Amino acid sequence: MMGYAEDHPKKEVLGIFFGTIEKNHTVVVEKSYPFRVGGSKEVDFLDEDYVRAVPLIRENEGKGLRWLGWFHSHPFTIGDHIYMSNKDVRHQKPAQSQNPYWTAIVINPYQINDPATKKGMRAYRLKEKRRGRGLSSKVLSLDVKIID
Ligand SMILES: [Zn+2]
Repeated sequence: MMGYAEDHPKKEVLGIFFGTIEKNHTVVVEKSYPFRVGGSKEVDFLDEDYVRAVPLIRENEGKGLRWLGWFHSHPFTIGDHIYMSNKDVRHQKPAQSQNPYWTAIVINPYQINDPATKKGMRAYRLKEKRRGRGLSSKVLSLDVKIID
């Protein structure tokens, strides 16, 4: 995941990851797949990415790993750029509505040594509205453990 971002330090990269959830709040990334390199300030899933995901889902579910979400990079050299943009929230919302464990991991290859991050990464989900009225646009930070 971070290796992919480091290989494309001037462009946003995107991919998916599989893993498990520990104690309902720690996302354990056990397997990640690089999918796409975008521009310097954007990257999007394409329809073919969903086709590509299908056999990976089958393979990983066979090993007890769940499709937990997506990762992408915000490659900026100075400052803290690991956050969910409005566009990221718009992408996250429909997917998390389908799968409550769906998580976005945002990474910045220039923040690997930033102690306020998990080796240059943060994991996010959107907050549930009260009384099961769906998801808000409020972003929650989660713990993340990277095995792959
Ligand atoms: Zn983003």
